[in-house]
Amino acid sequence: MNTDMGSESIFLAQLNRASSAEFVALLDGIYEHSPWIAERAAAARPFKSLAALKVALARVVREASLDEQLGLIRAHPELAGKAAVAGELTAESTNEQQTAGLTACTPEEFARLQKLNADYNARFGFPFILAVRGPRGLGLTRQEIIATFERRLRAHPDVERAECLRQIHRIAEIRLNDKFDATPVLGQQLWDWAAELAVHSETEDFLTCTYATPAHTAVAEQLMAWMRDCGFDEVSRDAVGNVVGVYNGTGDQRLLTGSHYDTVRRAGRFDGRLGIFVPMLVVRELHGQGKRLPFGLEVVGFSEEEGQRYAATFLASSALTGKFDAAWLAQTDAAGVTLRDAMREAGLPGTLDAIAACRRGASRYLGFVEVHIEQGPVLDSLDLPLGIVTSINGSRRYTGEIVGLASHAGTTPMGQRRDAAAGIAELILFAEQRATAVPDVVATVGMLEVPSGSINVIPGRCRFSLDLRATTDTARDALDADVRARLDEICQRRGLSYTLQPTMAANAAPSDAAWQSRWEAAVTALGLPLHRLPSGAGHDAMKMHELLPQAMLFVRGGNGGISHNPLESVTVDDAELAVQAFQRLIESLA
Ligand SMILES: [Zn+2]
Repeated sequence: MNTDMGSESIFLAQLNRASSAEFVALLDGIYEHSPWIAERAAAARPFKSLAALKVALARVVREASLDEQLGLIRAHPELAGKAAVAGELTAESTNEQQTAGLTACTPEEFARLQKLNADYNARFGFPFILAVRGPRGLGLTRQEIIATFERRLRAHPDVERAECLRQIHRIAEIRLNDKFDATPVLGQQLWDWAAELAVHSETEDFLTCTYATPAHTAVAEQLMAWMRDCGFDEVSRDAVGNVVGVYNGTGDQRLLTGSHYDTVRRAGRFDGRLGIFVPMLVVRELHGQGKRLPFGLEVVGFSEEEGQRYAATFLASSALTGKFDAAWLAQTDAAGVTLRDAMREAGLPGTLDAIAACRRGASRYLGFVEVHIEQGPVLDSLDLPLGIVTSINGSRRYTGEIVGLASHAGTTPMGQRRDAAAGIAELILFAEQRATAVPDVVATVGMLEVPSGSINVIPGRCRFSLDLRATTDTARDALDADVRARLDEICQRRGLSYTLQPTMAANAAPSDAAWQSRWEAAVTALGLPLHRLPSGAGHDAMKMHELLPQAMLFVRGGNGGISHNPLESVTVDDAELAVQAFQRLIESLA
């Protein structure tokens, strides 16, 4: 945390020195009526940082018995519940519920909350827990609280219990921040930038920002203005719309970093953009302190990564690696607008010469690093704010069709059918088992369709997609060979035929060992445990891998790690740690 480092470290030293009983007393009220958590965490001292303490407390809960976890959840009051009315809440809970305005509900809202509390309790047998101060720490609105309540009421009980525990950790985090007088000012700035940038959207209710639209150009202009405010020496928009900010070093070499600012439709605010904001804040702090590094920092806001408007995915990073495909300029979007025309409408030259000039020479750069929201549930389920990426998965994709015989569902005996859908069903289960058996390999049939199927007709055709990914090309190819061999065997046995068209193949991009270990050292320096994980999603770093050594840092996403969704969430505390990790990374280089 940036402000008042003094009081944070003084309190930390006091906690580390205290007897076990004193330690528990000092953390009284952090976890509601549950001193056993602090009792068990005491053994893990000394804590290197406040973040380390938070992780240790969460770990005690994660490793506790189911009964203990349920006891912790049940130690919490209902939201705007009977205890609140009767004034029986702990001081901490009263403060939090007041901040969220839950003590000032309209009669309708109060009635709605009472009904939700009753339904929730009947379904799960424990009270609904929500950190009402939210990811920003300032308090969710009553509408947000009620919407979250309604959504989570439909969750699976195991999923919901885990979410309640994570909300309890978030409540504890905010209480600890108050106790430590620690404010994540950099994380708050990042969060506020993300919120402000999300205003520029093609759709009214959700964030949509696809390539070369007016919203997209507005985002680029806003990023450039903020970069200038941060103290970058050069800020520009290149021929494909990348926003490029350079903070000069004392030497000619540069570290290249960044992520994308385009989004999917109905997107979250942090996907891509987090990885632009983090190094912007690092530069802002360096500039504020009048510091120069021995190398320059070049931050790229990539204009296109999601492949939403045009099929030319990674067109932005391809321009940097010199792999921009000239044929892409003639691609059309859904409205028939060519990429070239879209570029020109957005004020970009749209010529191959200008695009060719975006190419970077590898010799000038130390490497490429990217910070990105995880976009998956792993860090959230482990209660860890940061993760080290080992590799960006290689993939193969296919679309296929199985053809059988569309015959009468009533008259065709089970032994005489050629059911195309049953054939693909068998393949799906095989792919699931095969991928489950090998770590870091995934297989998905995401599209499945019986064209003009009827309730009383055996499926004669079934169309499907296949998405196979693995951390190494060897593992991907082995999975691919096994799945295709099984498809062949299933069709032979069932009297079916099939076609299978490859639609995409991408090689795995393993992290550069030296850069990965620099991220590891940075995370360790913050007092956090290391967790290494592959990236299942593709990223700009995957393209930059063709030019430069690369490594990525992942940041925990809330709400179970959901991404490509408006529910995507990052807390200000995790954002702060991401900035601090980046600061440690460049300090170790300097
Ligand atoms: Zn992304």
